[in-house]
Amino acid sequence: MPELPNLTAAESIPDAAMAEVERILRTGDLFRYGSEQSPVALLESEFAAALGSRFALAVSSCSAALFLSLKALGLPRDAKVLIPAFTFAAVPSSVIHADCVPVLCECGSNYRIDLDDFARKLPECQAVIISHMRGHTSDMDAIMALCDQAGIAVIEDAAHSLGTTWAGRNIGTIGKVGCFSFQSYKLLNAGEGGIMITDDEDLIAQAVIMSGAYEHNWKKHPVLHDAFAKWQNRLPLYNLRLNTLSAALIRPQLAVLAQRVQKGRRNHDYVADIIGASAWVDVPASLPSEQRAPDSIQFNLVDMTDAQVDTFVATAAGKGLKAEVFGRSTDNARAFWNWNFLADNPDQPKTRAMLNRACDVRLPARLSLAECDVVASTILDALSETMASEKLAARG
Ligand SMILES: *Cc1c(COP(=O)(O)O)cnc(C)c1O
Repeated sequence: MPELPNLTAAESIPDAAMAEVERILRTGDLFRYGSEQSPVALLESEFAAALGSRFALAVSSCSAALFLSLKALGLPRDAKVLIPAFTFAAVPSSVIHADCVPVLCECGSNYRIDLDDFARKLPECQAVIISHMRGHTSDMDAIMALCDQAGIAVIEDAAHSLGTTWAGRNIGTIGKVGCFSFQSYKLLNAGEGGIMITDDEDLIAQAVIMSGAYEHNWKKHPVLHDAFAKWQNRLPLYNLRLNTLSAALIRPQLAVLAQRVQKGRRNHDYVADIIGASAWVDVPASLPSEQRAPDSIQFNLVDMTDAQVDTFVATAAGKGLKAEVFGRSTDNARAFWNWNFLADNPDQPKTRAMLNRACDVRLPARLSLAECDVVASTILDALSETMASEKLAARG
């Protein structure tokens, strides 16, 4: 059997990107508004076309995209924004950054938004961010029906959902805005970076200006100029631009995106089938409308005590496998009770119960099936060792 593969390494950068980076370095043209044919503008048009969206704005991170989306919605200070309780700390942080107040919504044991809690909390909110956390899509039909009826805008945090479809539509194009990340551990790796897509001309015009298109740099964006002219000098400039090198790293990766999505899904489903046969493992099914694009696997440890869960994590680590249970690792940024920067952070018992049993293992698209076999058998070995030693301890 091959060795346990390196699961934490990022995707390597294609040769085509290296050549382009070298060309840019020789010109020194690193600023997106420096030259006429900016790689950042090219990335925006290519990304919008790939997703089937009218407009795209590349920025410094997905968090910046979320912040600009909230700002461009024109929410008043202290407006409440409904977000899932299972998300990355950057999401409530972007809400605070936009002078709004995050309201947390429960998530179920399948990692998706609890629709009853969502419907209950929606009326007090003025905007919604749906984090498709780890690429698990919440029921977008139900969410859009509720939000459309209430006239509330939906921002999709699709940082981890590039390539996922819902009823044949690209995730990120269902809400009013979709935000994506180019941080190293997402499907497209530029180290850092983000992009937002929308069909709304007025929203993108404001976001473009606020991202740092000072003076008349907005003329380098393909949005009808009337949409820009009315905002001239009326918006703060937050300077959250992407530089040309980052765009050059990403553009060649767009060509291999479909392949990464297909291989990631294959690897996920392969490992899910093997470990799902264990009595201690539950891999929640995807929703019927969802075609996932995973680069990691999440599963719930069932019929295990806290101590057994911790022993499993330690046993897997002893075998070289990082299998993290979100709620059982110290200071995890995806456990809402660690968000002590929130003024009001009431308990979310369903989400807490899920986080204390949900295990997270990276499963990059580049792995072969033989390597996936090693990952799966390492998980199963760690489980049976954990439960066997527990039995002995109970008997002794
Ligand atoms: C990574 C991630 C973010 C943050 O993206 P950055 O580009 O690092 O700001 C936000 N939400 C989710 C679901 C993520 O996975």
